[in-house]
Amino acid sequence: MGAKLVIGNWKMNGRLAANEQLLRAMLAMPAIARSGAGIAAPAAYIAQIAALCEGSGIQVCAQDVSRFAADGAYTGEVSASMLADLGCRYVLIGHSERRQYFAEAGACLVDKLQAALDAGMVPVFCVGETLAEREAGEYLSVIFSQLEVLRGFAGRELVVAYEPVWAIGTGKVANIEQISEIHAEIKKWLLQTLGGTDNIRVLYGGSVKADNAEVIMAVPGVDGALVGGASLDASTFELICQTV
Ligand code: PGA
Repeated sequence: MGAKLVIGNWKMNGRLAANEQLLRAMLAMPAIARSGAGIAAPAAYIAQIAALCEGSGIQVCAQDVSRFAADGAYTGEVSASMLADLGCRYVLIGHSERRQYFAEAGACLVDKLQAALDAGMVPVFCVGETLAEREAGEYLSVIFSQLEVLRGFAGRELVVAYEPVWAIGTGKVANIEQISEIHAEIKKWLLQTLGGTDNIRVLYGGSVKADNAEVIMAVPGVDGALVGGASLDASTFELICQTV
């Protein structure tokens, strides 16, 4: 499907003044907006980022969403309809840090996908194995079991992000063979299970930087990148966006 997609995941970083400075620098770099890149900001700053990005071509993305769709007594939660109201086009769901620190899996992630889609956002569903799972040769079965969450969502516009946990924030990048194997397997699974991949992009994430982005983007089956650390520097993010 369509053009490649880059999403910068700021994770739990930033303050009002620093966000404004970083985003203004990005807005002055036409390659970023032209690529249609997304910025996944902390929930507290989504309104700020949405206001700064308005009309620019940069898309706003949330890092998580409540599994509860209806307004009500869910202290601390941010609903999909609130995120859509703020202007979010994308929302990360099931990032490995959510899986690790908040035990997110299974039914919780199905609810989040449903809530995001019902609110008109495109979910960016993250999958990936740990180092122990890769070394034990279990990585494909781990990824397939994580993908099961998507089973009920045939025909919907989705983004899947393959992020090997051992490559996130570590500087270790999966090699070309590893990336192309997993992307091909994910696409095969999506085709067999959901009946098509026309409206599904599969991104790679895990230590994508300015000096490896071009090679990674050229791997068959890679439809873009989910970028953590390197999205906190405007010029680095620009170089990555130039590779799409
Ligand atoms: P990283 O993070 O680029 O810093 O490895 C990627 C991610 O967690 O999405």
